[in-house]
Amino acid sequence: MPELPVAPSASLPPSLILTLAFAATLVLGLLLKFWLASRQIRHVARHRSAVPAAFTQRITLEAHQKAADYTLVKARFSLLEMALGAAVLLSWTVLGGLDALNQWLLQALGSGMGQQLALLAAFVLISSLIDLPATLYQTFVVEQRFGFNQMTPRLWLGDLLKSTLIGALIGLPIAALILWLMGAAGSLWWLWAWAFWMGFNLLLMVVYPTFIAPLFNKFQPLEDESLKARVTALMQRCGFAAKGLFVMDGSRRSAHANAYFTGFGAAKRVVFYDTLLRQLSPSEVEAVLAHELGHFKHRHILRRMALLFALSLAGFALLGWLMAQEWFYSGLGVRPSLAMLVSGVPTASNDALALLLFLLVVPVFTVFLGPLFAGLSRRDEFQADAYAMAQADGADLASALLTLYQDNAATLTPDPVYVQFYYSHPPASARLARLPASTPSPA
Ligand SMILES: [Zn+2]
Repeated sequence: MPELPVAPSASLPPSLILTLAFAATLVLGLLLKFWLASRQIRHVARHRSAVPAAFTQRITLEAHQKAADYTLVKARFSLLEMALGAAVLLSWTVLGGLDALNQWLLQALGSGMGQQLALLAAFVLISSLIDLPATLYQTFVVEQRFGFNQMTPRLWLGDLLKSTLIGALIGLPIAALILWLMGAAGSLWWLWAWAFWMGFNLLLMVVYPTFIAPLFNKFQPLEDESLKARVTALMQRCGFAAKGLFVMDGSRRSAHANAYFTGFGAAKRVVFYDTLLRQLSPSEVEAVLAHELGHFKHRHILRRMALLFALSLAGFALLGWLMAQEWFYSGLGVRPSLAMLVSGVPTASNDALALLLFLLVVPVFTVFLGPLFAGLSRRDEFQADAYAMAQADGADLASALLTLYQDNAATLTPDPVYVQFYYSHPPASARLARLPASTPSPA
């Protein structure tokens, strides 16, 4: 009797299935991202020659073309970055980079917490070095060319040293604690680690504005009395108490403008970039702030945090399961310490390896959720705009948005499919269509 051919899938080892699924998903995601970027490039280039009809009163052709060129330069550069990112990811995983680093550190340091932390630190260091040329190019070539960069190489280097030092001071103890939990807290370690990680995130929200942000920027109390009165009246009207109104010297680094809230409950701080106050009139600043208050009123911040908590829990649980599977390591190009997996005998620990592999590989699979999260975010923006319209002047918000879109050289003609996938904020045309027309101001 002739033997029946066995279906190949039945005989594939799980590690090979993971390798294939990983490679196929990576390629698929890359193709999708390339397609989206090329759509955006074509769409913006095609609409470069004329200001869209709805904006001709406020936006000059020169400003429109600057926005188009800025968008095109960034989108073309992103193509290069995507290709490089995929190559680096493959090098770390299936081509054996992470394995080589791990084995080398095992030989140099032996096994133990020191080796685990060294592996994490070396990975972060090497990754940052690989990203360095792109970061430099973006700041000192792209942003410079369009007049946004305000950083000197000296300030840039100072920032780099400061953030590396703070990252090490905070990151290494956190990493040590999580690694310790992974090794010592039993099969439910991921629940403990998750609780700890969430607690740390909440703490950071309190600590960051008061202790870390001032290391990089100067914060001064808002001194403009009439603006202060306006903002205070708005916040009272909306039922908010602010602990302080601050102006941040954002112009030290970039000409891009912004405003944000930090803190919890009654102790909220409002921070305006000095660039924002320079570009907008007091009534426009009030409208922008009303929009931010809208995010609080509609509990968007709370919902985003709840979502982050839930997704992190799912992530930690998944990691807890994956790290006990031999195929999770071998399928991604890493040799785990098998004795540890089989008998729990503490030879070399795989915890840092599992953590790194997980963080490297998960984004490859979650890239396809982009439209979902971007869509939710755009819905929130519309809600906050509607709130601002009720609490302040909608025409002021419209005119502020136009100024900000223009000053940030955001394109008025993005590709609609690209918007669906990536835009956390609706494009100008969609937002302004829901707001009262702004009065044209002389340029
Ligand atoms: Zn918003």
